[in-house]
Amino acid sequence: MFMTKIHDRLHRVTVQDNQLLIADKTAEQLVAIAGSSPVYVYARNELAERVAQLKAIMPNKLKLHYAIKANPMAAVVDHMASLVDGLDVASGKEMLVALGSGISSEDISFAGPAKSETELNAATAAGIVINVESVLELERLYDIHDNTGRKAKIAFRVNPDFELKSSGMKMAGGPKQFGIDAEQMPDILANLDTQRIDFKGFHIFSGSQNLKPEALIDAHNKTFELAERLIALSPATVEHVNIGGGLGIPYFPGEKKLDVAPVAENLKQLIVGRSAAFAKADVVMELGRYLVGEAGYYICQVTDKKVSRGQTYLMTDGGLHHHLSNSGNFGQIIRKNYPVLIANKITGEELEKVEIVGPLCTPLDIVGARLELPIAEVGDYVTVFQSGAYGATASPQDFLGHPHVKELLI
Ligand SMILES: *Cc1c(COP(=O)(O)O)cnc(C)c1O
Repeated sequence: MFMTKIHDRLHRVTVQDNQLLIADKTAEQLVAIAGSSPVYVYARNELAERVAQLKAIMPNKLKLHYAIKANPMAAVVDHMASLVDGLDVASGKEMLVALGSGISSEDISFAGPAKSETELNAATAAGIVINVESVLELERLYDIHDNTGRKAKIAFRVNPDFELKSSGMKMAGGPKQFGIDAEQMPDILANLDTQRIDFKGFHIFSGSQNLKPEALIDAHNKTFELAERLIALSPATVEHVNIGGGLGIPYFPGEKKLDVAPVAENLKQLIVGRSAAFAKADVVMELGRYLVGEAGYYICQVTDKKVSRGQTYLMTDGGLHHHLSNSGNFGQIIRKNYPVLIANKITGEELEKVEIVGPLCTPLDIVGARLELPIAEVGDYVTVFQSGAYGATASPQDFLGHPHVKELLI
């Protein structure tokens, strides 16, 4: 059956009467609730299950943070805040969303290059932890103290002297705009003025979207080693070490779910083995897509169908403007398909080869290419899986001026 082809990548599919159910509802119901198509649907129970599963397998001592840039919808952030130990933000606006969830400000951290003075002021006033990414940023925080009397809570984001191998996105090692090079840290720590800032710890983020346990294990080993060296040089008690995230989810044909068990086992050993050096330090893992990616679905509707020189096209009301990463234009070199199904025709007696495209006047507007799906008609619901992260807010919604996408947490 054709679904077996994408099954490796799907974490779960509930089907009733040949209809996909998300949170016990059909696509038709979900679009009716949203008021119109297209819509992103995020399943509340799937988010909770994912966090619970990860917590069950990871060492007890490991704290779990949600990096909200993956999906900053306020309702999602509020829900996640009730499930995890902290939130990571990457802008002043995200900071306000995180604070709005009611989570304690001490459990919010703010990473990101080129933070504005306004953001640094706001984060200091709010009492959240600022992950300092440059020497000038540290100087600006000293200035904030001198001008306002407020002491910023800080951690240093360190650009490690290694990288996370086979990562979807390399964000560390070599020259980078993120963090302060590990080699510069001894000097900075030796000269740190703890009268003017409140030093809390370190943030060592080495990469993203990784499906290889051995690569993650290697990065974690090196991260703990680097953290131990930095702790020894620290002028004050280190309260936390954020080891980054990097856990990936399977998007494309040939990709398989990450086996988290060996990664968790290795972390257990690292935490036990380094208990003396890390005596007062919590170990934090921050994740975006791994927590929310698989609990999100993008639903759009077929609006036209035509054949061009032997090729069948399903045209939809959704596309690149809502779901840039699915279109293949967000960091991919060769476009590959996300898992796509017709939600109201999960199987069919006959399959048809189709190109699914959106309403934008550009050939880049692809929802799914060279798919084999049950025969679909106008009104049917195309559903893109693995769509809970880097969707609505990572897409150029105003490009061509079509309506923005709806979002529904249910
Ligand atoms: C983007 C980002 C994350 C989240 O990455 P995912 O791949 O979504 O898990 C975590 N930490 C930092 C510092 C980031 O910039």
